[in-house]
Amino acid sequence: MDGHVLALAGGVGGAKLVLGLSRILPPERLTVVVNTGDDEEFHGLHVSPDLDTVMYTLAGLANPETGWGLAGETFNALSMLGKYGAETWFNLGDNDLATHITRTRLLREGATLSEATEELCRKLGVMHRVVPMTDDRVRTTLSTDSGELAMQDYFVRWQSEPKVNAVNYVGADSASPSRGLLEALEYAEMVIFCPSNPFLSLGPILAVPGLRVLMKGFGGIRVGVSPIVGGAALRGPAGKMMAELGEAVSCTAVARQYEEMLDIFLIDHEDAAHAPMIEGIGIQAEVASIIMNDDDDKVGLARHILALANG
Ligand code: GDP
Ligand code: CA
Repeated sequence: MDGHVLALAGGVGGAKLVLGLSRILPPERLTVVVNTGDDEEFHGLHVSPDLDTVMYTLAGLANPETGWGLAGETFNALSMLGKYGAETWFNLGDNDLATHITRTRLLREGATLSEATEELCRKLGVMHRVVPMTDDRVRTTLSTDSGELAMQDYFVRWQSEPKVNAVNYVGADSASPSRGLLEALEYAEMVIFCPSNPFLSLGPILAVPGLRVLMKGFGGIRVGVSPIVGGAALRGPAGKMMAELGEAVSCTAVARQYEEMLDIFLIDHEDAAHAPMIEGIGIQAEVASIIMNDDDDKVGLARHILALANG
């Protein structure tokens, strides 16, 4: 295959595979569409956690320990904000703040989030195209036993502890897909659902009106990678949430979320026994090494996926 690839991604899990893809595909062959349901305003600044994770990863600036934030970061500004009585539960590093200040300035000057993202990426030397799912405001909230929580409240402040009863994508009904997304979809030959949280990362993207229909009608090949291996998420609350929402915690349950939107779903060797159930959903199961511990794993998985287009 020598066509264009469109990858749907959240933060850390998505960025791992995106890094692998970026090492194989030249910039003009990859567009990464990123979740913005996690976006939040802190200290008057527009923070886009997933866009930043993907951007910092592709710029080679990401913190290798956490997968998010910048390497070698310090937190002096946050301490000072604390002295002024500001809430400091959301970790914003000194260098990271420069990103949010610049994004906020660009938005105030009238740029769309797509334009602001493009400018930030350009300045950091990110050559592959990174676009938000929408330029409109969509906010993921969780209905929990501790009340209705914004995504960052739930995830960072409450450490994903409250029991989740429902996930909502506030504003999604009146959002439109970004132009970058629609353009890339027009010439893409492959769509990849990265191993991101199905409810908190790919759910918001698919909640943008038209997206499910576009995915169902996509003429090329659609490949997903499971974020669940051996009955648990590799990190984060995906597994806990699935159980609380009444789903089995399995790669099969993730595949079911993407019914009619995927041709092939990659599952780990450990989950090989799930293949028949996934095929029962009408999705071809491909057993592979889907745990990405280092850059070789990321490139290897990306190569495996891209090769599926040829066979
Ligand atoms: P977030 O926005 O930072 O939470 O990131 P994502 O939603 O993109 O990714 C979170 C998901 O990535 C979790 O459900 C993890 O299980 C999954 N994940 C993390 N590392 C890996 C990996 O190496 N392989 C696979 N298959 N999934 C992973
Ligand atoms: Ca996220």
